Amino acid sequence: MKQLNPTVAAIPPSATLAISSKAAELKAQGVQVCAFAAGEPDFDTPECIKRACAEALAANKTRYVAAAGLPALREALCEKLSTANHVAYEPGQILIANGGKHALSQVFLTMLKPGDEVVIPAPYWLSYPEMVRVAGGTPVFVRTRVEDHFLMTPEELEAAITPRTVAVVICTPSNPTGMMYTPEQLRALGEVAIKHDLWVVSDEIYERMVYGEVAHASMASFGPAFYERTITANGFSKTYAMTGWRLGYAASPKPFAKALAALQSHMASAPNTFAQWGALAALKEAEPDVQTMVAAFAKRRDLIHGLISAIPGVKCPKPQGAFYVFADVSAFGMDSLTFAKRLLEERHVAVVPGVAFGDDNCVRLSYACSEANITEGLRRMADFCATLR
Ligand SMILES: *Cc1c(COP(=O)(O)O)cnc(C)c1O
Repeated sequence: MKQLNPTVAAIPPSATLAISSKAAELKAQGVQVCAFAAGEPDFDTPECIKRACAEALAANKTRYVAAAGLPALREALCEKLSTANHVAYEPGQILIANGGKHALSQVFLTMLKPGDEVVIPAPYWLSYPEMVRVAGGTPVFVRTRVEDHFLMTPEELEAAITPRTVAVVICTPSNPTGMMYTPEQLRALGEVAIKHDLWVVSDEIYERMVYGEVAHASMASFGPAFYERTITANGFSKTYAMTGWRLGYAASPKPFAKALAALQSHMASAPNTFAQWGALAALKEAEPDVQTMVAAFAKRRDLIHGLISAIPGVKCPKPQGAFYVFADVSAFGMDSLTFAKRLLEERHVAVVPGVAFGDDNCVRLSYACSEANITEGLRRMADFCATLR
């Protein structure tokens, strides 16, 4: 009998598929759908980045580069990590991959052996559990609560640790919740990881989408004991509106980085060469564009949070980062998929059911969309919720 890898065969289809195909169907019929489902910036990639990529292509920078990524880009990332994140890395410790997602999936493949457990706070970014499973590990979820702003406490982390635990995943600012750990809270989680000798996978892809209340801190910056166990994952997709470029990276301690690079050298090699030249321009020239985009997100965050938190029955803590609000709609007495389906069918508003992120009480709304979309969509959602009470 020809068989499939049972771990891969068991990967469930995305829980959001039903919603996104229904939304596409409605749009095709000419219905005005207010869409809040996007997981990517609505801005175009800044001109300076596109220009550098086009110039690299014209200059025939089209050949293989080192399997871990373009040396000049890895050097520039070291400079960025040093000045912006206060962590010292050498180019040999940087892996450039085909997106943050690819960097992270290779991190788990490099780290895990069968039976190893990885603690993941829920709600979580939906790819972490599958990445862990495909790498042979077992995700262990720590359920966080809206009352705690969806933040995991050091006590909750410690309670989830068993003799088989090898790592904890921390995403701050968070997708899907938009919440951030303060530097003190983050350090306290790191101290638990030190005590139990765990890896920390620190997903910092939303580090620049922060709106002033909490400063972003990097786990690896807290000192040598933190640094030696932390893999910092990041990418260009969110900060520079480069989702389709497929460029992300991981910075890790030397022995880990060496193994990670060896893995990528056989699985994928480096990402697209001329795209990496574009990314180099992103680091060197695109800061004004980033600031413009972040300012727009900050305004939209205030707008959407004001509107959603004013809906009776909805509980929605104010996010400090990323571009999502995560609202508890459990007061309306239905699961998140039913809520999202009815909101789409009856009011033509597309949101992502929280069940996709491991929290069936909530729905996620992205505010990577226009202020007009936010105003109209939230008016419709408020009307919908009013009919349910
Ligand atoms: C978008 C995202 C990523 C990575 O995206 P790429 O496009 O693969 O770089 C990683 N983590 C989180 C939480 C994200 O939302």
